Amino acid sequence: MLEYLRSVRDRPAWQPIPDGVKRALDEPVPLGGVGPWEAYQQFVKLVLPYPLGNIHPRFWGWVTGTGTPFGVLAEMMCATLNANVTGMQSAPALVEECVVRWLAQLMGFPPDASGVLVSGGSVANLVGIGVGLHARSGMDVAAVGYVGATRRPMVYASAEAHFSIGRAARLLGLGDASLRLVPSRDGFRIDPAALVTAIHRDRDAGAHPSLIVGNAGTVRTGAFDDLSALADVAQREGLWLHVDGAFGALSTLAPGLAPLTRGMERADSLALDLHKWLHVPIDAGCVLVRDAAVHRATFAVTGSYVADLGGGLAVSTNRFTELGPQQSRSARAVKVWLSLKAHGVRAFGRMIQKNVDQAQYLAQLVASSDDLELLAPVPLNIVCFRYIRPGWPERALGDLNRRILIALHERGIAVPSHTTIGERFALRCAITNHRSAAYDFDALVRSVREIGAQLAQDDPIGAGIV
Ligand SMILES: *Cc1c(COP(=O)(O)O)cnc(C)c1O
Repeated sequence: MLEYLRSVRDRPAWQPIPDGVKRALDEPVPLGGVGPWEAYQQFVKLVLPYPLGNIHPRFWGWVTGTGTPFGVLAEMMCATLNANVTGMQSAPALVEECVVRWLAQLMGFPPDASGVLVSGGSVANLVGIGVGLHARSGMDVAAVGYVGATRRPMVYASAEAHFSIGRAARLLGLGDASLRLVPSRDGFRIDPAALVTAIHRDRDAGAHPSLIVGNAGTVRTGAFDDLSALADVAQREGLWLHVDGAFGALSTLAPGLAPLTRGMERADSLALDLHKWLHVPIDAGCVLVRDAAVHRATFAVTGSYVADLGGGLAVSTNRFTELGPQQSRSARAVKVWLSLKAHGVRAFGRMIQKNVDQAQYLAQLVASSDDLELLAPVPLNIVCFRYIRPGWPERALGDLNRRILIALHERGIAVPSHTTIGERFALRCAITNHRSAAYDFDALVRSVREIGAQLAQDDPIGAGIV
């Protein structure tokens, strides 16, 4: 595995899975075992060559971390212990408390803030929003839920919010009708004035404004809402402020980027991912909650089989199962603890700054090519751009860029992902990759222009694709 990591740059960023491999992976359940050696051989042949590609230096799709060699060893250490971090007396439980304290400190939360490690940003958002609604929905959610609510609890976010926000509203029993998407203004940031208007209008109409979701790094363009302004609105109007900082929250580790997250420390709850810009192996995320008592009250359950024994293992120092939906839980904190210890916070700050500088470099390459167009501001690590041909209609350009992206993937050159900005199909690079170097972005730009020119030449007026 370490040799595989060492040679990662020599392989394609991604490669299509051959039909033979797909067929081999659609196999019947093995009633008799082939033994570990043969099972391993099959892993090497069928799985190892065809991953998503996010450990590759030219993978910038969606938002995915790159992992580290030490992370591989950390996973092995955790798997050896096979720890179950519920809340009994064990060192991994103490490590999780320690990691939560570290993260609270780094994010500007008070030392007595609560927190729990979860699978990632989606569940961190679910937990944070769940706690916020427990506190501010005007309903006794634990006792009666929302059944019989005369005033619908309302959640506010900008249209740039990640889809996990809307899904949390659904899972928590509110549904899409409780999610109010407020318009953004310049730069894809929520318009605080429009937010206040929406809150007042809903309240006047008999609803119960409960919770605001702020973005610290939106998934499409890396935009930051004005979190200080959102904290002011939340305070004045009596709403909970949850911040989705899945990747962007960690930009606070880079001294030069700290202004972006100003106000984040005033949030009631904060979601952040550790498997994105902290590069611990997938999966690991964290939710922090300022008010520890409210956090616990949201999930607290009882059972004689988990009662405090007064000694031995069954002494509840911190029952993590009272802070989230899981009972059995892996020792995610241990790999975070190991990684922060081994590399130190400053190294992560430098690496994050490097990715942000690389995004600026890519944006400059785009700006200085007359056949490329930048489609959104670049406040952090995400660059949205496209290849253009003079005189081509919008739909033809959209299709051309879609075909460029597919070619980049299928030829294993690089993995950007895509989004639409306005009506425009964008190639989107989200740079959370400690293996990328400046020449990787040179190679990307060169390939986009070459492939674009070639495809356009094959179809000179875009006629076949309009
Ligand atoms: C990635 C991401 C999420 C979801 O996090 P997962 O770890 O994939 O569950 C939520 N919000 C934002 C802004 C993200 O980038």
